Amino acid sequence: MSLVLEQNKFINILLPITYRCNLRCIFCSQYDNYGEHTSVKEIFRLIDSISLHKVDAITLYGGEPMLHPYFFEIGQYIKKKNLKSGFISNGTLINEANIDLILQSFDAGIISIHGFEVIHNSLTNSQSFQRTLKSIELLNFTEDFYLGINITVTKKNVHILKDFILYLYNKFPNIKTFILNRAVNDGIKVSKEILLTLDEYKLLEKQFRELEGIGIPVEIGIPSKELPNGLNIQACSWNNHFKP
Ligand code: SF4
Repeated sequence: MSLVLEQNKFINILLPITYRCNLRCIFCSQYDNYGEHTSVKEIFRLIDSISLHKVDAITLYGGEPMLHPYFFEIGQYIKKKNLKSGFISNGTLINEANIDLILQSFDAGIISIHGFEVIHNSLTNSQSFQRTLKSIELLNFTEDFYLGINITVTKKNVHILKDFILYLYNKFPNIKTFILNRAVNDGIKVSKEILLTLDEYKLLEKQFRELEGIGIPVEIGIPSKELPNGLNIQACSWNNHFKP
């Protein structure tokens, strides 16, 4: 569980509810296919406890949080506590059959998609691009839902970031934010080969500034202390925009 604080004091708790995942992204060390889901009783107890404090939102993540058998009930429970409910997902389990329930149970969803089809499928070790794109289309249905996009920036996609973000923004105008995250070298699952060089960080910054300059809502989830010296990108998160 992590606490995210931003200048405007909007407080969002990130709550992992399972580390199981149906994908195997090459930049991720946060998945397995054997761990137990956190028990719903324990999750409700945590939500009860969190709701006693000055907190605005709880966001579920994993692994893939939609694999948790009580995913929807947990979202509804958060809302019953008068908190905003959100999730971070690869989108592959969102479909026409469950979209209404998702929109009823959650206020926000951040979907991870990492580039055009070939690049996304290569980074996620899957053929999931079309399903993930479909989930964005379904969540884009209403502007009342806070829809965000998470992109993990690696050597394989840093050169197409601007084009890809413009493609998504033109196609899905209800997207509220694009969050650029970075792959972390965990020394185990994540290959050093995909990590950015200094020049690639500069390319990332250039595209970020260009997108910002034409009014595209981009944010950087990369803590500024981790960026090479001389780059001036502020660390921030989507919480600034996720207001009641
Ligand atoms: S979808 Fe998310 S949790 Fe699953 S492997 Fe990819 S980055 Fe990791």
